[in-house]
Amino acid sequence: MRKFFGLLFRNRLASLGAVVLGAIVVLVLITPILPLQNPDITATADRFQRPFSPGHLLGTDHLGRDLLARLLYGTRLSLAVGAAAALIAGIIGSAIGITAGYFGGRVDNLIMRGVDMLMAFPYILLALAIVAALGPGLMNALFAVAAVNIPFFARNIRGITVGLAGREFIDAAKLSGMGHLRIILTELLPNVLPVIIIAMSTTVGWMILETAGLSFLGLGSQPPQADLGSMLGEARSALITSPHTSVVPGVMIFLIVMSINLLGDGVRDALDPRLRSGALSRPSATTLVDRRGDVPPPTDDLLAIQDLQTEFRVGARTYKAVGGVSLSVRPGECLGLIGESGSGKSVTALSVMGLVASPPGVITGGAVRFQGEDLIGAAYEDLRRKRGDRVAYIFQDPLSTLHPLYRVGDQLAEAIRSHHPVSKAEARRRAIDLFAAVRIPNAEARITNFPHEMSGGMRQRVGIAMALANDPDVIIADEPTTALDVTVQAQILTLLDDLRRERGLAIIFITHDFGVVGQLCDRVAVMYAGRIVEEGPTGAVLARPAHPYTRRLIACVPELGQGRRELAAIPGLPPEVSNLPPGCAFAPRCDKARDLCRKGEIALAGPGARRVRCLFPEEDPA
Ligand code: ADP
Ligand code: MG
Repeated sequence: MRKFFGLLFRNRLASLGAVVLGAIVVLVLITPILPLQNPDITATADRFQRPFSPGHLLGTDHLGRDLLARLLYGTRLSLAVGAAAALIAGIIGSAIGITAGYFGGRVDNLIMRGVDMLMAFPYILLALAIVAALGPGLMNALFAVAAVNIPFFARNIRGITVGLAGREFIDAAKLSGMGHLRIILTELLPNVLPVIIIAMSTTVGWMILETAGLSFLGLGSQPPQADLGSMLGEARSALITSPHTSVVPGVMIFLIVMSINLLGDGVRDALDPRLRSGALSRPSATTLVDRRGDVPPPTDDLLAIQDLQTEFRVGARTYKAVGGVSLSVRPGECLGLIGESGSGKSVTALSVMGLVASPPGVITGGAVRFQGEDLIGAAYEDLRRKRGDRVAYIFQDPLSTLHPLYRVGDQLAEAIRSHHPVSKAEARRRAIDLFAAVRIPNAEARITNFPHEMSGGMRQRVGIAMALANDPDVIIADEPTTALDVTVQAQILTLLDDLRRERGLAIIFITHDFGVVGQLCDRVAVMYAGRIVEEGPTGAVLARPAHPYTRRLIACVPELGQGRRELAAIPGLPPEVSNLPPGCAFAPRCDKARDLCRKGEIALAGPGARRVRCLFPEEDPA
């Protein structure tokens, strides 16, 4: 709950809405005890007094009634009627929607066709018809407004319920012998309640307007009773001569509806877990760069990541996901980047092409050089041309990276055509070649498949084909085999290895599995809590791990035929990158840590390519 309000009030417009609405509500709540004149007493001698005239702060209307008093009492009434209408429509509409969605079949059909019939009338006409049938009056206007809004709730809630009703937890509840009513109340309702609240908070303003509309037409509140709509209606004839009589209720309606809508939008955003995490806020096209300190000088590597620092700024906290990482690859080389989940591998990889979502991601230091040219802070157009063309990615889950509604061949052709102006036929021909290159049998037929028609291994091959589409120089593969079973994984690894030999590709291969690194990579860098803790040629690191963390990671790999060796899990959890300890980040989990390890910076040191960030390494890397 605290979190909800925290989020709500971080949204400045929603806070503004809350403050304005809160002030209005407080004002109308204390209206009866305020020293106001009777709103219904007429004094024809005082007609059309201007605002700020003595005794009448907002002036008087055409019958000499005090506008301030009428405004406050009228607002009270309008708010009450609008809220009551929203509540009635929300409850009845939701009940209808849940019933239809839960029972489905014929019940659903019958109810929803009825709702459709209500929806087929223009709602203002329907409201007018209802009031005409019931007779004018504020209560009847309330019912009319509630009635015309029921279909809106019913449709919304039915849609949500249909999605939930087929889920396993409902089946489980049925199997456990719960009755329908109990399932609806205890299993379904809590899940749809946020939606109902959101729908209500975003429609209250609308209903206040509709009620005011009916009153304006003389079908709602009856004289002398004031509500905002009837005040407007009565002021209409004096619109030119005494505009204040219209402006006063008009401004109030504007304030109420604006503040309710702003607040309603804020409530919706704060309740939606996806919006809450910022996932739906549109990230900028490249990662934000806020670089302090010097930019490292160019090197002659194909791709060099130099002292890269990337952090996430979420509220008051800063997560230093990547805290100064340096890596490089040459053509034809495969570099393994290994580490536990959460160690910052993906963020490092995405930073290369400025693909970390901003907000909340910010690159705060270092450089990424492709053929000597710094990519960090490069113009968007420059990066866009290189993305997928010179540096391509392969991601972990091919199902979520492929568009579900397009044929895989078309998606591949699109990847080619977005960088090279070739004809459709030519792109198709290349797609078939690529499918053959990644050993997809029967390529000609396969390019017309949809992603869901392919197996996981085949889909990942499509992912690789897509990465190869423009003959890139570097491929960054982020756990490309983690979602696959072991035999398919072996095939994909062989494929990548062949491709790199055939095409001279440089590969940065991200994984958490030393077995995979051993199969594919020439060199390996071990990452922990956003920093490289050890690096060197794969053979040397595997045979003689120097960092205690590396040794324990290697000990986590099971080996066939190794008898009853115990698999050693690493105790404890990686540290939170928002709050890193001084000294070695691994010290709290390390059995060899001494006091010195917990003080001050420890350098990544060692001879040549073999380096380790440890004061008391397992083996001397030299
Ligand atoms: P992995 O090594 O498993 O690929 P990541 O690079 O995805 O790990 O994440 C590194 C760290 O960055 C993690 O501690 C994670 O909590 C943090 N992180 C990643 N994305 C975000 C984000 N959008 N907001 C805040 N923190 C994030
Ligand atoms: Mg990752």
